[in-house]
Amino acid sequence: MRPLSYSSISTYNQCPLLYKLKYIDGKKEKEKFYLSWGKSLHGALEFLYGVKVPPPPTLDEVLNHYEENWLSAGYESAEQEDKYRSYGRELLQEFYQTNISHFRLPLAVERRFTLDFGEVKFTGFFDRIDKLEDGTLAILDYKSNREIFNKDYLANALQLTFYQLAAESLWDLPVSQMTLYHLRSNTPFSTKPRPPAELERARAMIINVADSIKAGKFAAKENRYCPCDFPEDCPYYRHGYADDKVQLSLESEFKGVDIKKVIEDYVRLKAEAKENKIKTKLLAEVIQRFGEVEKLNRVYGNEHAITLSKNRRIDYDGEAVRKILEPLGLWSQAQTFDRKALELMMKDSVLDPDVQEELEALKIETIRMVLFVRKNKLP
Ligand code: SF4
Repeated sequence: MRPLSYSSISTYNQCPLLYKLKYIDGKKEKEKFYLSWGKSLHGALEFLYGVKVPPPPTLDEVLNHYEENWLSAGYESAEQEDKYRSYGRELLQEFYQTNISHFRLPLAVERRFTLDFGEVKFTGFFDRIDKLEDGTLAILDYKSNREIFNKDYLANALQLTFYQLAAESLWDLPVSQMTLYHLRSNTPFSTKPRPPAELERARAMIINVADSIKAGKFAAKENRYCPCDFPEDCPYYRHGYADDKVQLSLESEFKGVDIKKVIEDYVRLKAEAKENKIKTKLLAEVIQRFGEVEKLNRVYGNEHAITLSKNRRIDYDGEAVRKILEPLGLWSQAQTFDRKALELMMKDSVLDPDVQEELEALKIETIRMVLFVRKNKLP
């Protein structure tokens, strides 16, 4: 099977069907400007840290590299592209001014890695790995997205967990720091390395996702990013996006059925049923009250009559019953019995009379009025 990566595993967890469409069927997603923009920024930072020997490139050289390697795909207009191009320049300038004074050659820049789990391979790219003075590793990943990372996010960021696994196995050195560098705010957000149990869970996740893929588990899973770029292939969205011609072929077993009308009728009737339920309850209360005030057991309309019947129901305070029966070793029996069985136990006098009395005192009696409809047979 093809190697997995952080992004393919995230896609699988987000929606297994989307994984299949992208990574197995090879469907191409629409180009997105924010991905192009992120890659343009990454390219410039790779240029800055990718020098073989110091000194690092000047700010002008970094910005020239950014301009010359600018990726235009996915922008919706020339204005939007210009706006992001100059915004990117600003961010690079800020980054450069903040970081150039402590520039050091990194251990790796845009370095590809592959982890081998037997049949399953896991691959990815480190944006940057620094070797610290104490001989440990620091992982750094540049992020061009808007959201700021909170503590909780950092502590659970799966990408960092995977990268720690990869870095420690590649260099056989411990990772002591992991950072997501938020370019828009020029802020490094750092977190501690994961403990061994968490690395183990990440490893198990890679194997589990691989197993599910091998087993052909590609159910659609609706999520907050839906619809994706392939609604026509999705059982949640296919019908909604289909034109009339496709609908006919989809609904071939239902020729003559206007499914759109069926849907709207169903929703309308459901709403009416709900409203009718409320109205029926109000009418029942009026009839019941009328019977009570006028001391009637049956109330007559023109064609129908309603008989009012009292339904007596006994219940018990379960917690109080437990307190009595548990010390007698009878609670497990009562617990598996229903109310009727408990009453039977009491009726058959299997209990001590004092206990019996105590249980009797716990009875909660409710009287409910039941309304029976009949034809008005009176002349
Ligand atoms: S639209 Fe369908 S296929 Fe696409 S992500 Fe959502 S559920 Fe998955």
